[in-house]
Amino acid sequence: MILYNHFDVNEKGHLTIGGVDAVDLAKEFGTPSYIIDEEVIRNNCRTYLNAARKHFGKDALPLYASKALCFTGIYKLVAEEGLGVDCVSGGELYTARRAGFPAEKIYFHGNNKTDKDIRDAIDMGVGTFVVDNTDELYALAAEAEKRSITQRILLRITPGIDPHTHKAISTGNVDSKFGSAIVTGQAMDIVKKAIAEPSLDLAGLHCHIGSQIFDIEPFAEAAEIMTEFIAKIKSECGYEIRELNLGGGLGVRYTEYDREIDYAEAIGEISAVVRGLCEKNGITMPRIILEPGRSLVAAAGATLYTVGSVKEITGFKNYISVDGGMPDNPRYALYSSQYTALIANRASEPRDYRATLAGRCCESGDLLGENMEIQRAKRGDILAVLVTGAYNYAMASNYNKLPRPPIIMIKGGVPRIAVKRESYADLLANDVDLGD
Ligand SMILES: *Cc1c(COP(=O)(O)O)cnc(C)c1O
Repeated sequence: MILYNHFDVNEKGHLTIGGVDAVDLAKEFGTPSYIIDEEVIRNNCRTYLNAARKHFGKDALPLYASKALCFTGIYKLVAEEGLGVDCVSGGELYTARRAGFPAEKIYFHGNNKTDKDIRDAIDMGVGTFVVDNTDELYALAAEAEKRSITQRILLRITPGIDPHTHKAISTGNVDSKFGSAIVTGQAMDIVKKAIAEPSLDLAGLHCHIGSQIFDIEPFAEAAEIMTEFIAKIKSECGYEIRELNLGGGLGVRYTEYDREIDYAEAIGEISAVVRGLCEKNGITMPRIILEPGRSLVAAAGATLYTVGSVKEITGFKNYISVDGGMPDNPRYALYSSQYTALIANRASEPRDYRATLAGRCCESGDLLGENMEIQRAKRGDILAVLVTGAYNYAMASNYNKLPRPPIIMIKGGVPRIAVKRESYADLLANDVDLGD
């Protein structure tokens, strides 16, 4: 086992993913390729759903934050597992709809929904809008009124706490492009405006404090601020908030140095805290929603590459270059995210070599990691980066005109292509010949 049960080593000394030989996968599907173990995602969905129902009640609904990994097949899978989803753009809504995802179980996020986004989302019957700001509130109210419907909404609130993670993935503080802050009075203002709109049904509040959080503490802090605010709304407006969405953000183990989180236990602890806070503040326990992204899909994934050049720069570093890089995984370039890498065809050998893992782009920052522990590598080896299920394919680009890798889903030991590899022709599909 390497980090998780679904990453293992077989009798040939090869890495296996969901029981399938990674070297065989690289041969069959080429590199780079994203490999996703479907069972891992299904198990994570069940863990969240069962724990949420047990601790929050039967109507609890975890949402999959689909920006973490978005393609047609994932919406079908999540629908089968009974979760809702959160979508953040017209493109994600379109993908969900094409996959046949039930619209009433979609929560539509985003700090700057366009008029078209709003119209399209209403017309497809999106269950809940998470309204970010007053401009959006009025635009949505007008569209709902035009159609003589009452649109269910949550309001995105910034509780004003710092979850002690990387700035770029921390979203709960007052100075944020997301939501309305409680301390500035803007949160209460938008609540009152929402209550006054007859075409909107203010069901509840939302907050999302950040990502890759390993402690319950920031969630407890957020819950405390949010339940106090709910009590204030009750006393000031005589209005009952029925739903509280505490966002996503539970952490994932990317390396041996990261802690493991028991998600069911974490949900139990969050529930106990919220229950206590509701009693303390004299409010009815609202329906609690969680919207995990990373923790549902990250561990399920691995990316397979082929090693090209290996450079040992005397007195400096060792570089292993692979046939992918920041276009398929920009997370090291963006956040210095740490990963576990190994040579899949010699996975049983100790990782006693140190190397910087480089991509193939013309960009010095195109790295997948520095000073990584890995086996000694040579041209032609298959290199695997583990735990790439979240925010890799979803953030992939065509920088340097590199085609995006395919997604191969493994189910019951059988690999299937869920997203095809882009071709060079795909890259030019929208180019227009302007003649002369
Ligand atoms: C990104 C995001 C999530 C998911 O975050 P993870 O860290 O992937 O769990 C949930 N809710 C909102 C609003 C988000 O922006």
